[in-house]
Amino acid sequence: APQPTEEATLLAEVPQLKARLLANENPFGPSEKAKQAMLDAVATSYQYPMAYARELAQKIAAYEGVTPEHILLDAGSSPLLLAAAMHYGKQGGAIITGDPSYDDLPNKARHFNTPIIPVPLTADYKLDLDAMEKKVDGKTALLYICNPNNPTGTVLETAKLKAFCERVSKKAPVFVDEAYIDYLPDPQGTTLIDAVKKGQNVIVARTFSKLHGFAGLRVGYIVAQPETIKTLSNYVVGGMSISAPAIRAALVSYQDQVFLQDALKKTLASKQFLYETLRKEGYEHIPSFTNFVMFPLRMDSKRFVDEMMKRGVGVRHWQFASKEWCRVSIGRLDEMQAFADAFKQIS
Ligand code: PLP
Repeated sequence: APQPTEEATLLAEVPQLKARLLANENPFGPSEKAKQAMLDAVATSYQYPMAYARELAQKIAAYEGVTPEHILLDAGSSPLLLAAAMHYGKQGGAIITGDPSYDDLPNKARHFNTPIIPVPLTADYKLDLDAMEKKVDGKTALLYICNPNNPTGTVLETAKLKAFCERVSKKAPVFVDEAYIDYLPDPQGTTLIDAVKKGQNVIVARTFSKLHGFAGLRVGYIVAQPETIKTLSNYVVGGMSISAPAIRAALVSYQDQVFLQDALKKTLASKQFLYETLRKEGYEHIPSFTNFVMFPLRMDSKRFVDEMMKRGVGVRHWQFASKEWCRVSIGRLDEMQAFADAFKQIS
């Protein structure tokens, strides 16, 4: 069944929501330092932002152990997903993705008549790498691997994904979307930027929209081979599409471990509260490694979401594996309480 796209939900009018739990945002950000950096940047924002964009690319490159030529910045990761959809989508081959997974890149590619091969998840709701690899042939345009996976919140075993990329990237480029990697215990040990460093045909996407709390500020980037960066940069504006205040905020947020750890701690506390709410009502859930939780419903998922929305609680619905599902983003504790109050009335 067609699912409502993230975009449609975000465009939908959601007035006076008590709990905004529908777009995997981080209400604990942006950090105070990031907000101050934005204020400080306002006076000189008549200047183009290129120098700051270069500084951010250099900072990320130094931290990740690559060169600035391995990095392409834009206003969030969405434009970079679109760039990949355009470039690889028009090659004539298929894009292989998970089902369900984040559908933005494949959906954009559909506009270029790219065949999309959705591969169902495993029984424990992870991307089925073995089944995805079997779909690769000489014409495959791209594999899209969302890790951790949106909307299920599951994560792949790092060694397994690394071995997969090493084999498969020889046949087709692998796009690894790491939007939620900052929520994992060891992002540096999990990232596939490692594969890029080894020269593999892997593109890693990152965003400040999640743990950094920048969804409205718009800062994201990809890390890939310099030739790939050059090619994909033909489809986007790059660093100049990000406003100087947003880039300067990203510069201070990038390694602000105190803020990031605090946001992570608050997210985990809210998630624990949600788990408890579900348990009390006798519901199961998919174990989540992200700032959202997917759980199976006992009623029509569209009706559930409508009923929650009437009570000021915004969540999302899905249908897969012959079940109706709700995805709840992790918000502040007062939002999780609002979810619990509404949920008790409906469930
Ligand atoms: N990738 C994934 C997996 C996402 O869930 C999202 C947003 O929810 C994005 C990319 C796009 O985020 P942004 O354009 O804000 O970086």
